[in-house]
Amino acid sequence: MAVGILPVQSDPTLLEDIRRYGKFDTEGCYQCGTCTLSCDLCTDFANFPRRSMRYALLGLRAPLQGSLEPWICHDCGDCSIACPRHAEPRISMHTLRRFLSAQYEWTGMGGRLLRSRAWHLGSLAFAAVFVVALILCYHLWYVGLPVSGLTTAMGLEHMFPIMTYFTLTVMLFPFLLLLTRVFRVWRFTMGGEDRPSIPFSVYVEEAWTYAYQSVTHSMMKKCPEKGRWLGHWLMALGVVMMLTIKVFALRWFQTDNIYAFYNPQRWLGYLAAGFIFYGVGDILVKRVKANKEIYKETHLEDVIFPVLLLLTALSGMGAHILRYSGLAYAALIAYAVHVIIATPMLVVEMPFGSWAHMIYRPLALYFQAVKERAAQLAPAGEAIGHVV
Ligand code: SF4
Ligand code: SF4
Repeated sequence: MAVGILPVQSDPTLLEDIRRYGKFDTEGCYQCGTCTLSCDLCTDFANFPRRSMRYALLGLRAPLQGSLEPWICHDCGDCSIACPRHAEPRISMHTLRRFLSAQYEWTGMGGRLLRSRAWHLGSLAFAAVFVVALILCYHLWYVGLPVSGLTTAMGLEHMFPIMTYFTLTVMLFPFLLLLTRVFRVWRFTMGGEDRPSIPFSVYVEEAWTYAYQSVTHSMMKKCPEKGRWLGHWLMALGVVMMLTIKVFALRWFQTDNIYAFYNPQRWLGYLAAGFIFYGVGDILVKRVKANKEIYKETHLEDVIFPVLLLLTALSGMGAHILRYSGLAYAALIAYAVHVIIATPMLVVEMPFGSWAHMIYRPLALYFQAVKERAAQLAPAGEAIGHVV
């Protein structure tokens, strides 16, 4: 394998571009390297945060776009505490992740949402209003419900099976979008003619890293903030369980079996909701109450996803309890509120907001493992990766 050499061309607009996504202090830093020394996640292969910050400072756009290191950083804040110049390298890494998210995103929406609160809140509001319009149109024209009939004891049954199709559509949308970005992440970080090609067998050999990191997010356990990993992990587990139930067992919800005490979907749903309540509560309470380095510089998407998730779970539980109690019309209203909250969360927050890091982090760790394995297999004297 040949050594890949990236053209070293400085882009004077890079720093300004990065700063559109958040704080990035370069004036304070005098390149002492204390931050790198203080980071428990740094290795010989993944040397951060200083290297990524250097790329930004020197205007090296391609090496920065190809860098996996901002994703290997798990935002613990040790580097910012250790920095003698208070240059806040943790926040710089956070900004770089936002910048990189926008680079991976091909629709242009991600960048707009990350740069502008107005775009972010406007997109959420637009999705919610669109769902309200869909609900009204469906009931007034398709179901033929007279406006005066809105006080009848109508339940959820008239929405079966369209409820299934709608739910599957809004759930598959973010996953398909995120899937298309996987190829772009690969192209930025592993592909390109100036990088040595890595045999496909190495990708297969290291595939377990992706599976393991996706399931455990174990690197976060190294975070000195106790309980952070558990809160995030339970919230993610609750979301995955809830999505799985919705995708594979929604039809069961649409039969009278849902009332059966033994129905496993009911109990799995309660368990998933419990995990979500614990995880979201832990994340929000710590962010609001804790005055620690790790919670400094909160962005809108850091809180909006947990808040929407909490409201989605509460409204879903409300619709379930009302339906279970035989209050059919109240259940219908609660379900409408549930869909109006859940849809913006699924089609805006999941593909364009902070949830995407749940995909990018394991992917970065996987690609990093592939690079390291390829370097071990390379004949002596040959290097893997680009030289700057
Ligand atoms: S510890 Fe602070 S001053 Fe030193 S290299 Fe890191 S960011 Fe720069
Ligand atoms: S925030 Fe933590 S993981 Fe990230 S670079 Fe700093 S010390 Fe390392």
